[in-house]
Amino acid sequence: MLKDKRALVTGSTSGIGLAIARALAGAGADVILNGFGDPDSIAALCDELGASHHAANLMDARAIAAMMEEVGPVDVLVNNAGMQHVAPVEEFPAEKWDAILALNLSAAFHTTRAAVPGMKAKGWGRIINTASAHSLAASPFKSAYVAAKHGLAGFTKTIALELATHGITANCISPGYVWTPLVENQIPDTMAARGMTREQVMNDVLLAKQPTKQFIQPDDVAALALFLCGDAARGITGANYTIDGGWTAE
Ligand code: NAD
Repeated sequence: MLKDKRALVTGSTSGIGLAIARALAGAGADVILNGFGDPDSIAALCDELGASHHAANLMDARAIAAMMEEVGPVDVLVNNAGMQHVAPVEEFPAEKWDAILALNLSAAFHTTRAAVPGMKAKGWGRIINTASAHSLAASPFKSAYVAAKHGLAGFTKTIALELATHGITANCISPGYVWTPLVENQIPDTMAARGMTREQVMNDVLLAKQPTKQFIQPDDVAALALFLCGDAARGITGANYTIDGGWTAE
């Protein structure tokens, strides 16, 4: 399905991005990985997927520009890299706010503006932004993340309109809680912010939001991303697809 297509997936050395990279590579795409991690593990991933890897720090606009220049035109752009920080707003470190806005929102702008001319030249492109249920609903103590993801959803709708006549679609995928390192790593901060045990955070905070009481699987998010790359999804643009076990239905 994606033979002869080049796909850049940001934040694809772990979690959801890695699952998306695997799905796109499995469909024949030439995948470019991005993200941090142990060099040997990343080299093994590149071998497994026949992929290349770029380690650009996406909080840095100049590093993004250099990566996009080096990578060249891409047909599929998945803006997936993201981070979280959990704290009451009056204690929220300003540098964490800046970092979350830079990575979860501004990076998608910088990659998109670099990728669009090549997509326009080909008259085909797919831009998929990993947003979140937090692009549609808020939770306390996640001010920067919720602001960034709401912003990402608005950005996606805007570029969908701009690119609608160019054969380029732009959509968000908005997962609820997916069992990845990002979720696991926020448990200690949430324990501190709310004065809870690990079990209480898992059951009363994380899965409390998801009527199914199940974490979403990264491969299920990847299957949706792959669908959005296909011809059957050519008419889907500006959408924000939830995959959240019913969370935002409430
Ligand atoms: P993860 O922590 O498993 O992976 C994050 C990836 O981003 C890694 O590859 C990491 O190396 C990379 N990364 C981190 N900082 C980076 C930087 N400065 N520059 C470049 N790469 C960087 O996270 P995940 O859970 O797979 O989350 C992926 C995306 O999905 C994020 O945008 C996140 O907000 C979103 N999301 C996750 C969940 C969830 O429950 N896990 C739910 C909704 C949305």
